[in-house]
Amino acid sequence: MTRPLTLVMASANVDKAAEIRQILSVVPDLDILPRPGDVPDVDETGDTLVANARLKARALCDATGQAAVADDTGLEVDALGGEPGVYSARYSGENATYQDNVNHLLAELERVGASGPEGRRARFRSVAFVAWPDGSELWVEGVVTGVITDRAMGDGGFGYDPVFAPDGLDGRTFAEMTDDEKHEISHRGRAFRALAERLRNRT
Ligand code: IMP
Repeated sequence: MTRPLTLVMASANVDKAAEIRQILSVVPDLDILPRPGDVPDVDETGDTLVANARLKARALCDATGQAAVADDTGLEVDALGGEPGVYSARYSGENATYQDNVNHLLAELERVGASGPEGRRARFRSVAFVAWPDGSELWVEGVVTGVITDRAMGDGGFGYDPVFAPDGLDGRTFAEMTDDEKHEISHRGRAFRALAERLRNRT
């Protein structure tokens, strides 16, 4: 018999929140509350994904007095020494759009002469983090490997999806897949399924 657990969700992104809620629905006695509207955004000043996920979860936990769950994601490109990584959201500047970031990424890969699938290896990494009011915490990671394509393809998804083709499929980018197809293998899907497993086995 597990103890009931309530988690406040740090993400206010409707699609992400729905995906996370669906994955965590397999955990017995777990209640998930939406992010309260009056909690201000947290500055993501950490220099790792774990640090930023912790900042977001801890801020929500401190503001609500309840355990909170947060996530942070980065795209790591081998030919760019792991960039943009933790800076993925602002790769081409503070107010960068997804399109700006994709264009910047393709230009950087061209600049360093990264060509062919082996020269354009990359991975998405997501951290899912839970912070409790007593200071305890739990975090897990999910990774999906693939290649950065030569040009953007597909209209689905968001962020770098149009230029990321995961390994082991037919070369389509995430933006050319349905949400369900993407979530089954995605970094965030993997991180939150691992979190679900850990929460399921909690005592
Ligand atoms: P966040 O930590 O989930 O806010 O992600 C940081 C940045 O990584 C986003 O602004 C996107 O540019 C990128 N990103 C995160 N998740 C995905 C994804 O599933 N597909 C494509 N890009 C993503």
